[in-house]
Amino acid sequence: MKRLFVYFIFSTILFVSYASTKPFTVVIDPGHGGKDPGAMGPNGREKDINLNVSLKLGDLIKQNHPDVKVVFTRDVDKYVPLQDRSNIANKANGDLFICIHTNASKARSAYGSETYTIGLDKTNANFEVAKRENSVILLEEGYKEKYQGFDPTSPDSYIMFEFMQSKFSDKSIEFAAYTQDEFISSKRYNRGVRQENFWVLHQTKMPSVLIELGFISNPIEERFLLSKEGQNTMANSIYKAFAKYKHEYDKKNVAANTNIATTETPQPPVSKMDNFNQQVSDSKVVYQLQLFITRKQVVDSKAPDFRGLTNCTFYEEGGWFKYTYGSTNNLDEILKLKNSIKSIFPEAFIIVFHNGKKISLQEAEKISKQK
Ligand SMILES: [Zn+2]
Repeated sequence: MKRLFVYFIFSTILFVSYASTKPFTVVIDPGHGGKDPGAMGPNGREKDINLNVSLKLGDLIKQNHPDVKVVFTRDVDKYVPLQDRSNIANKANGDLFICIHTNASKARSAYGSETYTIGLDKTNANFEVAKRENSVILLEEGYKEKYQGFDPTSPDSYIMFEFMQSKFSDKSIEFAAYTQDEFISSKRYNRGVRQENFWVLHQTKMPSVLIELGFISNPIEERFLLSKEGQNTMANSIYKAFAKYKHEYDKKNVAANTNIATTETPQPPVSKMDNFNQQVSDSKVVYQLQLFITRKQVVDSKAPDFRGLTNCTFYEEGGWFKYTYGSTNNLDEILKLKNSIKSIFPEAFIIVFHNGKKISLQEAEKISKQK
């Protein structure tokens, strides 16, 4: 009886500890699909190469790491909007997000493999790649609302990426470096680990990379990427990078929960500012300027500085951090302020709160008239 009891206790502990450990989850995102073929080569389409390599990579991980959960954003030839891809990764509570793409260039001689993490490349050398991959957004109806006014073709729109200091940068770069090392071992031309602002990477709350396998526009590389052997080579290389990353991960036993909690209801501004040296009353209409939005809090400070504007603040809405500047009960003053920062933040716009709730400009006008 005593032995049975000990067994019961032991198995309960086992069960509890098992249930509380989430399996390591890798999310594989084969770029493009369905109505969006991606880059086109003389003989092949990017979406097919991406999918084949992704499926092979997933198989290799499943075979060799039964403890790892593999999630695909698509495992067939179908169209998945960019935002949905990051949503799938976030919902799966992923530990690593791998986007797989194939490059193209007007210069047919361009070739080689590169791996991107999110970040600002000051030389702007990779903007064309980001623009092309982000432009998938334009295929979506109502993309302006869905992507908060982000225009993938306009360099100005990339303002929201500028202040990203992702807490996942180091891990993302680590995996990117392993991947490029493996590409070198498989005799692929190494174009290195690069930084650029891909929407799909910006939206995920985990270490994330975007791999450009090679150039579909280069006839020799296209032939390689369309071949079974070529696709196996690429999938194998990425798999080896994954195995190394996972090994390091297990060694360091990184705490599982890296997610930032987000709230779905608008919160009133977290701190008052005195940009106008006046008392701002919450019972009256409060005007502010919204500067940019991000999925993650960009700096720990509750009153950060951006481009020389001090005491900025933020509120949370629908899973977004929305950064604002200025706070006044006076519409004329906010218009003046908007004008004064036009050269620094050309896309800033006015938002309005009343009793801590966000309201429209029209509603604000009505309330102001009543008083
Ligand atoms: Zn692509």
